[in-house]
Amino acid sequence: MATYQNVHRQTVDLPRGYSSHTPYTNLRNPKVVIVGCSYAGMSAALTLVALKGDGQIPFASWGDYAHLKMAPSAKDFDITMVDERDGFFHSVGAPLAHISPEKTKVMWKLYEGFSELKRPDIDFVQGTVTSIDSENQMIIYQAPEGKSQPLNYDYVVISSGLQRPWPVVPRAKQLTSYLTDASTFTQRITEAQKLGVVVIGGGAVGVEFAGKIRAHHPETPVTLVHSRDQLLSKEPLPEEFKLRTLQLLRQQGVNVILNQRADVEELPDGTHHVKFNDGDRLHTSMVIMAMASSTPSSQFLPSSVLDSTGSIKVDSKYVLISKVLRMRSDADVQMYPHSLRVINELGPLPRLFAAGDITNIPGIKLGRTAMLMGSVAAANIYSLLVAQNNPSWSLAMEPYIQIKPKMAISVGDSAVCYSSVDGGVQFGKGLVKPLFGSDLGWSKILAALGLSIHEDAC
Ligand SMILES: Cc1cc2nc3c(=O)[nH]c(=O)nc-3n(C[C@H](O)[C@H](O)[C@H](O)COP(=O)(O)OP(=O)(O)OC[C@H]3O[C@@H](n4cnc5c(N)ncnc54)[C@H](O)[C@@H]3O)c2cc1C
Repeated sequence: MATYQNVHRQTVDLPRGYSSHTPYTNLRNPKVVIVGCSYAGMSAALTLVALKGDGQIPFASWGDYAHLKMAPSAKDFDITMVDERDGFFHSVGAPLAHISPEKTKVMWKLYEGFSELKRPDIDFVQGTVTSIDSENQMIIYQAPEGKSQPLNYDYVVISSGLQRPWPVVPRAKQLTSYLTDASTFTQRITEAQKLGVVVIGGGAVGVEFAGKIRAHHPETPVTLVHSRDQLLSKEPLPEEFKLRTLQLLRQQGVNVILNQRADVEELPDGTHHVKFNDGDRLHTSMVIMAMASSTPSSQFLPSSVLDSTGSIKVDSKYVLISKVLRMRSDADVQMYPHSLRVINELGPLPRLFAAGDITNIPGIKLGRTAMLMGSVAAANIYSLLVAQNNPSWSLAMEPYIQIKPKMAISVGDSAVCYSSVDGGVQFGKGLVKPLFGSDLGWSKILAALGLSIHEDAC
């Protein structure tokens, strides 16, 4: 019977262009650049650090990595992390961060404060990546003051996620301006006690915002409007999950209006009319747009590596599916394994990997899957670095194997979760602590990444 190790130990060819393009490595240590340093990017950086011998690979139990345990070591490479923000923001916690002032700052941790990242082999660069020139192994980014800067690379992990509008995620790039934005927003919610708040969009984000506003401002009328006949209508989740979510929101006093499209008109006094397609209308202090419109942050890449939605195409043909499924008997695993190499119509690109929401891997976009992908992409880059110095080592790659749908949603002071493995849908206040703690999962995620020490610089 095939073992997991056997699966990984299939020899693979070095990437095309691998031997002919080494201008940068001739000058200094090889460099891995991580574009976008949130869940996937942080996991990638910490996996590379772990493979150098310092710390654990995040979520290692979800992979194998056995082929790397006996590999010759490759410690002489540098990591540059590039992000347009100056800190790691917990997007999952946005509904709490933007409602509760005492949680705002907690959810944004400056990169410079993470002890684990303070190393001579890690650089952090704040900037927006605007192009990648794979011929010359060069990234161009725009620094905060507007100047374009080049950055050479040997390998890249692209983990730039999805663009979502404020207040779903921060629009600010610096902690200081983010705190100002969030404080203005929470103040407006406090002042909305009489006329209330309307949240438009009954996906997970809208549900969480509506529930959190109601839980923190119980005197404020909160209305959630959704154009379909059930909440979470786009998610591949069981009916029961969607019905429980609706039930819990209504029990907590959120006025849920289904099957209505809403038009918003701002009035001269700063309040709003929300007009529905049945002719009805609501006068409200504040409207929060939480529709599921999100665009992949992939504008800096050529269209040849993007699908029709702008997501990055990644390799899925790498590992024999039947072998992987035979080896992994747990029912949590499904579908096609990916090596996470970026592909175009000619095949995999030699030095580009992608991880997280930005990839075209189907399924619910989740922080946990982003982190798993970050680890796998980093491990595969590490394998290529090992192979570069040890031509006789048989290069093998870690597959990212999709996980069956699992979803937990915070609904005000309660929660609903679904796992096809653990027995379907569960709900109730008792789930809040084990699933989310008191900070919508932030402490758990930091701990899982091995980022428990943070020195707050401001
Ligand atoms: C309100 C809300 C609630 C959610 N709730 C949950 C939940 O309960 N559970 C769950 O698992 N998931 C949840 N999610 C989804 C989860 O947040 C995403 O799946 C996750 O953020 C994906 O991580 P990522 O690292 O791929 O991308 P992102 O977290 O989007 O990070 C992308 C990073 O790239 C940076 N970036 C973007 N473009 C560039 C560029 N051109 N140059 C440099 N840097 C760039 C950004 O600044 C950012 O730091 C929620 C999302 C939202 C918005």
